Amino acid sequence: MHQVGQILRLRKKHACGGQTWEVLKPGVDTRLKCTTCGRVILVARDKLMRQVKGV
Ligand SMILES: [Zn+2]
Repeated sequence: MHQVGQILRLRKKHACGGQTWEVLKPGVDTRLKCTTCGRVILVARDKLMRQVKGV
């Protein structure tokens, strides 16, 4: 399970070129903030699990 403040590295790059995301709110839909541009997105957990490459 992800924790608030955890930094995740995703397989897919964000539009801004960033690859690391900060966990804002874990759950069925996890709220992530792009650490490069500050954009906040919601990702379903099962989808996120497949995308995470590392911490
Ligand atoms: Zn970004």
